[in-house]
Amino acid sequence: MKYSFKIFSIFGIPVELHISFLVLILLIYIIALLNLVPYINILTAVLITLIFVSVVIHELAHCYMAKRYGIGIERIVLLPIGGISEMEEIPKDPSKELRIALAGPVSNLIIGGICYIILILSLAYISKTIQGAIYYFIVVNILLGFFNLLPAFPMDGGRILRAFLAERMNFISATKLSASIGKQLAIIMAIIGVFFNFLLILIAIYVYLGAEAEYQTVLLSSLLENDRIKDVMTTDVHTVQPNSTVQETLKIMFKERHMGYPVTDDGQLVGIVTFHDLSKIPEDERDTLIKDIMTKDLVVSNPEESLMVTLEKLNRHRIGRVPVVLENRLVGIVSKTDLTNILERKQSLLEKKGS
Ligand SMILES: [Zn+2]
Repeated sequence: MKYSFKIFSIFGIPVELHISFLVLILLIYIIALLNLVPYINILTAVLITLIFVSVVIHELAHCYMAKRYGIGIERIVLLPIGGISEMEEIPKDPSKELRIALAGPVSNLIIGGICYIILILSLAYISKTIQGAIYYFIVVNILLGFFNLLPAFPMDGGRILRAFLAERMNFISATKLSASIGKQLAIIMAIIGVFFNFLLILIAIYVYLGAEAEYQTVLLSSLLENDRIKDVMTTDVHTVQPNSTVQETLKIMFKERHMGYPVTDDGQLVGIVTFHDLSKIPEDERDTLIKDIMTKDLVVSNPEESLMVTLEKLNRHRIGRVPVVLENRLVGIVSKTDLTNILERKQSLLEKKGS
């Protein structure tokens, strides 16, 4: 994610802080230290920090479980609204999904439980204010735990419900049913919200949209599941040589009107270079060789990969095209536009069928 930077790594997973989150935390501490707002003191600031730590632990619990099942985790990004774990793929094995989804809320309930025991044991030794803060922290963790167990996407409870249903029916039907249960729950939430609490209406909208989005994602991935990259890739790939100069490559780019080229050495893919990379080179340094400026850390696809897996790669790395490689040799290229076009065609076909 843009504007986020790594603060530490745990279980080999980088944990990143989004800049908005950092600003918020700093702001809270400044307000607390300078006594700018009544009731926001250093204890409140520490409490808010600890609540964010609980959110991190919640995400780490998901990731730890996912890692145990061999699922790669790109990173965890912390935003003011919570944490996002960027996982490689969503497991379609119900028992794994169930455990991964449960781990988060359970970790909050455990934190709440442990702090409750600490509170009871230390009642005689700590001040009323500290007791109040710990009590508040316990309540927040219990609420976090139960809120995430609500059986609606994008909450963990939605995944738990789907996993439960997927043991009894196919994955798409299970997603469809749990998404519709989630939407109904959202409607009930919104109605209650009208009478009691406006905030509940916002949560209801979030839940409703989340449920629909999850269903759409699963539906689309099922549409693309059986298509292989080899059937859609462009095989006539224009390449450049590692020993070409920036000047020569720019000429080719202007002539052929392509924005990016794979760099090959005797058929082997060694890098990729884009117009953006070249435009950064000053005019008097255009005799620089491509091999010195190309991107060597490549995201690639292979001919047998499913379209969905490749599309996920493109989205995750925010790139427009990937080279298709078979045993290190460049055999084709596929762009995000190609894949989204195919998706849209399939989607409209599906809508015509009326299902
Ligand atoms: Zn969670």
